[in-house]
Amino acid sequence: MIHVEGLTKYYDDFCAVDHIDLDIKGGEIVGLLGPNGAGKTTTLRMLTGYFQPSAGDIQVKTHSIYENALAIKRLIGYLPESAPLYKSMIVYDYLDHVARIRGMSGEVKQRRIVELADMCALRGIMHKTIDTLSKGLKQRVGLAHAMMSDPEILILDEPTSGLDPNQIVEIREIIKKIGREKTVILSTHILSEAEATCDRIVIINKGRIIADGSTQQLTASKDGECQIQLGLMGVAAEEVVARLQTVPGVSRAMALGSDTPGIVRCSVVSRADRDIRPDLYAAVKATDWVLVELSQETRNLETIFRELTRE
Ligand code: ATP
Repeated sequence: MIHVEGLTKYYDDFCAVDHIDLDIKGGEIVGLLGPNGAGKTTTLRMLTGYFQPSAGDIQVKTHSIYENALAIKRLIGYLPESAPLYKSMIVYDYLDHVARIRGMSGEVKQRRIVELADMCALRGIMHKTIDTLSKGLKQRVGLAHAMMSDPEILILDEPTSGLDPNQIVEIREIIKKIGREKTVILSTHILSEAEATCDRIVIINKGRIIADGSTQQLTASKDGECQIQLGLMGVAAEEVVARLQTVPGVSRAMALGSDTPGIVRCSVVSRADRDIRPDLYAAVKATDWVLVELSQETRNLETIFRELTRE
């Protein structure tokens, strides 16, 4: 759906986004996670066509930004960090105004406003002045605005920034619902946000992508490898190590100390992009050893984030 190659942005001689390559499939919810100043907003603004890149290309479906930026804009709905709403209007009039700008009228316009009121849980506030709404409600109106023309891709810059915990959950639920049918890219510097909402997390720091994968992949791997521990009974550690080393995908196997009599513990290292736990299980099942433990070592996302982004 989206192909980004060598995307780069300079502000004068400062490089804010540095040769980003990214492929996003249709239907993914992708979280761009990074500390303040990492280059998230700049990246999103280039994706939406708001900023021209200094170098690199963005292709959305069959269109390149250099050949058909307008076609790309039509495919994208964008909610900037502070949704620019006409604060003196009531919600209904505002959405009606946005629909008219998008060329809708009559029944089509009416139907779309009702659909968005349902999708973004606005029914109870359609006749309230935007200025009187809480930040969470304003954000929902902004989301309805971004979704007005039913875009295939929704780009959200820090959608839960400044919201209270209840409002965060509400927005998250709406984003997940939208994500069942659309491609969603959102930026955040809140780890739990990315973890709870996104299928895939792209960690960005100093304008570069430094990690990319599902939460499970990111937390399981270190330097592209993951570690699995096994506990077994009825066998000597050397025999287990020799056997496990022959399992496809295993980079190395080693014996660990055991503090439980009768149980040997071993550790197996494999590449993170391949889950070899079923193969390990099959290898053990073919013997008469008793498997009492098979677990993948995990680190939480916060540890990974700190490891990757600290100075
Ligand atoms: P935040 O979470 O704080 O919004 P971010 O990851 O979205 O951060 P960007 O806003 O893309 O980061 O900024 C990346 C870098 O580029 C920062 O160092 C920022 O100061 C700088 N920057 C952003 N916009 C401009 C601009 N218009 N002119 C000059 N420098 C800019």
